[in-house]
Amino acid sequence: MAAAMKVGFYGHVQQYKNIQAEIDANIKAVLESGEYVQGPMLKRFEKELAEFCGTKFAAGVGNGTDAIWLTLMAMGIGPGDEVVTHANTFFATAEAIWIAGATAVLVDCCPATKNICPKKIEAAITPKTKAIIPVHLYGQCADMKAIKKIADARGLKIIEDNAQAFDAHGDGFAIGELGAAATTSFIIQKNLGTFGDGGAVVTNDAAIDARVRVLRNHGSGKRNVHSFGFNSRLDDLHAGILSAKMRHIREWNDLRRKWAARYTEGLFGCRSIDLPYEKPGYRHVFHLYVIETKRPQDRDPLLAFLNERGVDAKTHYSIPIHRQDGYPWGKGARIAGGLDNAEANAACCISMPMYPELTAEQVDYCVAAVREWEKENPGACMEGPGLARKDTCCD
Ligand SMILES: *Cc1c(COP(=O)(O)O)cnc(C)c1O
Repeated sequence: MAAAMKVGFYGHVQQYKNIQAEIDANIKAVLESGEYVQGPMLKRFEKELAEFCGTKFAAGVGNGTDAIWLTLMAMGIGPGDEVVTHANTFFATAEAIWIAGATAVLVDCCPATKNICPKKIEAAITPKTKAIIPVHLYGQCADMKAIKKIADARGLKIIEDNAQAFDAHGDGFAIGELGAAATTSFIIQKNLGTFGDGGAVVTNDAAIDARVRVLRNHGSGKRNVHSFGFNSRLDDLHAGILSAKMRHIREWNDLRRKWAARYTEGLFGCRSIDLPYEKPGYRHVFHLYVIETKRPQDRDPLLAFLNERGVDAKTHYSIPIHRQDGYPWGKGARIAGGLDNAEANAACCISMPMYPELTAEQVDYCVAAVREWEKENPGACMEGPGLARKDTCCD
């Protein structure tokens, strides 16, 4: 059947067109300044970023993965150390731990939010554990208050992987407030994205900020003086693009929240799927709007149906980290406890199109497609309404 409408997964080009004059002006300013690497536009953006995040410091780096391992190295975490994170995050979180030379310890997520389960963290801690990396997955903060209690009781560092939740907050805490540092990614598909790669580390800890700045620039804090380091910088062109875009991020995330509410209202009562769970008091910024089929065998058929209807839905993430063959199992990682919730999520997840530039008609079309599939597949319907799973351990 021919698709009546096309709903893409991203709105990048439209977003550019909406604020083209502001972006172009910053690009022109950088090009004409003659300073393209660690120049004034980077400094300006770093200042704006720290102000926006409410942290004392912000350092631009090459990408969100580098932001994590540079922070681990800045903290002196490496070979022989263990870092706890969860199995259902994007691969880069574990990859960064591996690059730093430490061992990733993968634990399960909570069934409703899909964020790292504080109880599972506790069970995974050994004398080698040095840090916890909670990911604010899909745009909603992890349970930082519970994680902070665990970390403080054992002297562990927290690095918040904030690649997906820029401008989110928890119930009474900001991102970067309870962790020692928060890292972010500015790759184009993130809520605040440049036209390419970028990343940053925000922190209130002057020592972490200073170390990251030296490590990102060939181990050099002073001209001609070098220690161990790398090349991982945020180019001034990207800083200029991000500076223009950051002025709009709150309004863009509000639009994401509006479309999420429209999806949830439209899909409410569906019995073949579960809907995303928003924690009370949290600002979820819906990097992704992830539904789950009640039964694993229904995921691929529903996804294919949506794609055929012109709805460019995808999965995040259908292969959890512990099932990635490329990971150095035994050397670079271990699993702590059962990963049932991560497994269920991998098998059942579908990300619906979600970006500020969506229209009400597009969201309604996506909703109608899911409802049409459910009508044709009554066997996929389970008892109970299509509410988010609330039979949870922590959330
Ligand atoms: C995107 C992402 C990263 C990595 O960011 P890059 O800029 O692509 O290196 C890390 N962690 C999470 C959770 C992400 O979503």
